[in-house]
Amino acid sequence: MAVVELREVHKRYGKTAAVDGVSLGLREGEFFTLLGPSGCGKTTTLRLVAGFEAPDRGEVWIGKERVDRLPPERRPIGMVFQNYALFPNMTVFGNVAFPLRLKRLPEGEVRRKVGALLEMVHLSGLEDRYPKELSGGQQQRVALARALAREPKVLLLDEPLSALDAKIREELRGELKRLQREVGLTTLYVTHDQEEALALSDRIAVMREGKVEQLGTPKEVYEAPATPFVARFVGAGVLVAGEAREGRFHRGRPWPVRVAGEGKGYLLLRPERLRLDPEGFLEGEVRLSTYLGSLVRLEVEAEGLLLKVDLSPGPAPGVGERVRLSLPEEAPFVKEVANS
Ligand code: ATP
Repeated sequence: MAVVELREVHKRYGKTAAVDGVSLGLREGEFFTLLGPSGCGKTTTLRLVAGFEAPDRGEVWIGKERVDRLPPERRPIGMVFQNYALFPNMTVFGNVAFPLRLKRLPEGEVRRKVGALLEMVHLSGLEDRYPKELSGGQQQRVALARALAREPKVLLLDEPLSALDAKIREELRGELKRLQREVGLTTLYVTHDQEEALALSDRIAVMREGKVEQLGTPKEVYEAPATPFVARFVGAGVLVAGEAREGRFHRGRPWPVRVAGEGKGYLLLRPERLRLDPEGFLEGEVRLSTYLGSLVRLEVEAEGLLLKVDLSPGPAPGVGERVRLSLPEEAPFVKEVANS
C-alpha cells in the first residue's frame, strides 16, 4: 500500500493549471523526488500533500486516511523548506523541542528526544545557540531535526539544499541520504536540480506543466527518457532527429547504433558515451574545449550537429582541430510525443 497517494489531483490558480491531473503513490521507506523546471507544479504538489493547499479535484491519501480536507497540523507530516523557517527567538534546543512540547510530553522525555535528534543530525553541543548564530547548513539540520521530532509518516522537503553553498550542499546531500536510510522514513523531495534528484532518489517523477511526464528510477529516467523533454532536462546530451528502422538508427544513411523502437524520433547522444577515435563514424571539428577538472568537455561540430564529448583529463585536441568520433553501440531512442 502507498504511504502517500495522489489520485487525479488538480489545482488551478486563475488560468494556470499548476497541478493538472497528477496521480502517484509513494512506497514505504521510499525517497521520492518531484523534479522539473521552475513553474512545473512540483511545489504546489508538495503543498497539497502538506495541506497548505486543497485540491480543486482529486484525492490525497496518507496511509489509510484521506487528508485533502485536513489542515496541515492534523496531517502526519514533517516539512523542511528552502529558507529554513526556524523560530528566530528560540534556541536550537527550543526549536527541536517545540513539536514535542506541543504534544505535552514530560520535560525529561523532551530532553532525551531532542538530545537523540541533535546527535542524529550532528549538532550535539549547539543546543543553546540561536538560529542567527548558525551557518545555513546547520540551520537546515535543525529544521530537519524539528521535522523528525514529530515522528511523521512522511517527510516533505522543498528544495532544502538550494540556498546552500555547493560544498555544504553536497555534504548535506550525503547526510540526508544516510539519515533517510537509517530512519527508513518515506520522503517526498522537491528539486529542480537533476543531479541532486539522481543522487538521492529511489524514484523520480519528472514534471512538466502540471503533469508527470515520466515516473521511474534514476537509471530509467537517465537511460530511457520517455520524451524529448525528459531527455533534455535530465543529464547532458544532444538529441539527433532521425528514424529507427530494423533496430538501427538512420539519419539519411544507417548509423552504427542499435536502438529500440520504430519510426521517427531522436537518438540521444550523451557526452560520456562518445569517444575520440581515428576510425570513428563521424568526422567533425572541435568548436570549444572546456577544462572541468575531472574531465574535459569538447563541443564538436559534425554533420551539422554540435555534439558534446567528455574526455578523461589529459591531452585533448584544441579548437579548430579535425577529429573523428565513435558512437556508442546502442543508445536511447526517444519518440516525439503529441504534447512535446
Ligand atoms: P519553482 O521551482 O519555481 O518553485 P514549481 O515547479 O514548484 O516552481 P509551482 O510553485 O508549483 O511550481 O507553480 C506552478 C504554477 O502555478 C506556476 O505557473 C506558478 O506561477 C503558479 N502558482 C503557484 N502558486 C500560485 C499562487 N499562490 N497564486 C497564483 N499562481 C500560483
